[in-house]
Amino acid sequence: MTTPARLRVAPSPTGDPHVGTAYMSLFNLAYARKTGGQFVLRIEDTDRQRYVPESEQQVFDTLHWLELDWDEGPDVGGPYAPDRQSGRLETYRPFVEQLLESGDAYYCWCSSERLKELREQQQAAKASVTGYDRLCHGKTREERAALPGFSENPVVRMLVPDDVSLEFEDIIRGRVSAPRPDDQVILKADGFPTYHLAVVVDDHLMGITHVVRGEEWISSTPKHVLLYRMLGLNPPALAHMPLLRNTDKSKISKRKNPAARLTWFREQGYLPEALRTFLQLLAYPPVEGDTEVATFEDFVEGFDWAKVNTVGPIFDLKKLDWLNGHYIRSLSAEQLTDRIVEHYAYTGAWTPSAEQVELLLGAAPLIQERLVLLSEALPKLQFLFTPDDEIEFADDISKALNNDSPAVLDAAITALEDVSAWDSPSIEAALREAVVDGLGIKPKLAFGPLRVGVTGSRVSPPLFESMELLGRESTLARLRRFRETL
Ligand code: GLU
Repeated sequence: MTTPARLRVAPSPTGDPHVGTAYMSLFNLAYARKTGGQFVLRIEDTDRQRYVPESEQQVFDTLHWLELDWDEGPDVGGPYAPDRQSGRLETYRPFVEQLLESGDAYYCWCSSERLKELREQQQAAKASVTGYDRLCHGKTREERAALPGFSENPVVRMLVPDDVSLEFEDIIRGRVSAPRPDDQVILKADGFPTYHLAVVVDDHLMGITHVVRGEEWISSTPKHVLLYRMLGLNPPALAHMPLLRNTDKSKISKRKNPAARLTWFREQGYLPEALRTFLQLLAYPPVEGDTEVATFEDFVEGFDWAKVNTVGPIFDLKKLDWLNGHYIRSLSAEQLTDRIVEHYAYTGAWTPSAEQVELLLGAAPLIQERLVLLSEALPKLQFLFTPDDEIEFADDISKALNNDSPAVLDAAITALEDVSAWDSPSIEAALREAVVDGLGIKPKLAFGPLRVGVTGSRVSPPLFESMELLGRESTLARLRRFRETL
């Protein structure tokens, strides 16, 4: 029996949540559930320059939408609250003091101008050793103040020793090595810790047993391992998930890819379960003995870090479209209707009346088979929700018409006036008899003008079913109105 693990996802609220936050949450949550442990959400808001106030709520909303729910977090509390770093500033202070006292950290008064110059000089000289030159190390405030490039408010830097370990054990990758770190700032001039200090202190205090994060943090890990050592703490197990990549292998970025934004998926009309499975399959093989679309429970049951890929997975939205279609087809008419209504409530693009929802319930099965995104539902069904005398005709409808069209419409109108039961089989039978048999017109040419009359377009959901949903009165009104235009 594995011991219950505690894992966390720790997004920084710097804008629209990144799709990587959901990807990390999924794998962290899976292992927490597998071991009967906990999954924690921690908000890492120490970078005040990049802080975006709405971002935190968006993190909550998108992750809840994906049902990647946490056991402890800023919105639900927990034994180690607060779970938001800006609320924990007092917590970090003693750790900084301890490092200053032991000589593992030092004050640095170098101004940003001096640091910039230093960087430029190093670059120009193509220096082999770059980074901070330790001008402040070992100096008192007075000693340093006598030198140029002094700033009143110091930062605190960690003193990286020559024998810093540059290798660590990764539960996905095995032994990993990373470049030598610089004397990293751990406490900023504004009194906020940097990510590097805060992440170590919080993971320790919150009892995190496994730190699972993106590959981009590998280069920071030696600093973190060193901080654990300096503070006399045991580091948690570490795992670095492969980075999500575009088909051209470049990193998924919010600047370049709309799909890097988690809210984008919701706006487009993807189902949360499709996105979850998509993210899972990016870094993990299909659950054995099953199709690609196993349940989250099956994924959790067989979960094993050894199965996680280390190669950057390709973010192929065609695969997501396929999955979305698959999940859409597996919904009942009621469920699909609910999802469509929810989708439009989210985007604000449509607020159907109770009557329209009823109509949608009847129409959803007609479009279900070919629906890829929930956002395609309204364009496909718009004709049902448009008043009879406001149906607009597409520009290309003439392709469905010829000299026989007026006769086709006349025959159809008469037949539909008399059809005894208003259901799609009776409607179809009556129309075939009147137009195909009666006028000797091939089905394609017979039904094209009727489709245009009823829906305004040459392409639509199945015609007879659509007529059934519209009802006799509405169907006839539309056909008569169209007949007058011919
Ligand atoms: N705040 C970091 C981020 O936004 C978290 C990195 C980590 O998980 O340690 O990605």
